[in-house]
Amino acid sequence: MSDKYIEVFSQFEEVTGFFSTKEGATEGYPYDREDVFEENWLEEAIPVWPKQVHGDHIEVIEQRPYRPVELEDTDGLITNLRGVLLTTLHADCIPVFLFDYMRNVIGLVHAGWKGTAKGIAAKAVYMMNREYGSDPEHIMAFIGPGISKCCFETGDDVYEAFDKGSYSFDIFEEKWDFIDDFSEKKGDKYYIDLKGINKKMLMDIGVPEENIEVSEHCTCCEPEMFESYRREGGTYMRMGAGLCLI
Ligand SMILES: [Zn+2]
Repeated sequence: MSDKYIEVFSQFEEVTGFFSTKEGATEGYPYDREDVFEENWLEEAIPVWPKQVHGDHIEVIEQRPYRPVELEDTDGLITNLRGVLLTTLHADCIPVFLFDYMRNVIGLVHAGWKGTAKGIAAKAVYMMNREYGSDPEHIMAFIGPGISKCCFETGDDVYEAFDKGSYSFDIFEEKWDFIDDFSEKKGDKYYIDLKGINKKMLMDIGVPEENIEVSEHCTCCEPEMFESYRREGGTYMRMGAGLCLI
């Protein structure tokens, strides 16, 4: 693999996954997404492209499309089909990669703070179980490069989104009572650890801690390696996350 990508789940033969570095990022809007996912080794795969909206809708891909498919209002994808390249685009928001190595089921979510507050990563695990019978104990997770606590400075609004009530989907409901373990107040600002929160939520729904890898890379404070919306004060550059059963 080139230096355009970081490999994900390289220990498994049944799945291939990646996250673009700055070298593999693409500029412009609408994004020339094929450029983001140009590598030959994915030539046979059909990409599925969500139009991300910082929501928690997760689409189940039940048929292998004949050409690239763009899905409205979607921030997460799951499938058990080979040759379907699940994709998401990022410029600080956290990518969460999931792989059930017993049943060969994959999931990929785009988790910014809004998606994280809605519990989208845990919801993907829940849906992998509901749709495909995945046991969370057999799910491997990679919480990818994204903005880390060092740089994710927020006001009260973001803190409060995590501080009130609960997050829920279908029959699952979990109280938001752990934000103080993953945030730090300095003056009137908060620094929030989105990766840590996503890890905690995955563990709460049954993914073993030893199955979860968290990337140390902060997209915001590593300008040589990553694009960052926060660092640039807005950008059209996007890095791609991809995950595919082979
Ligand atoms: Zn940082």
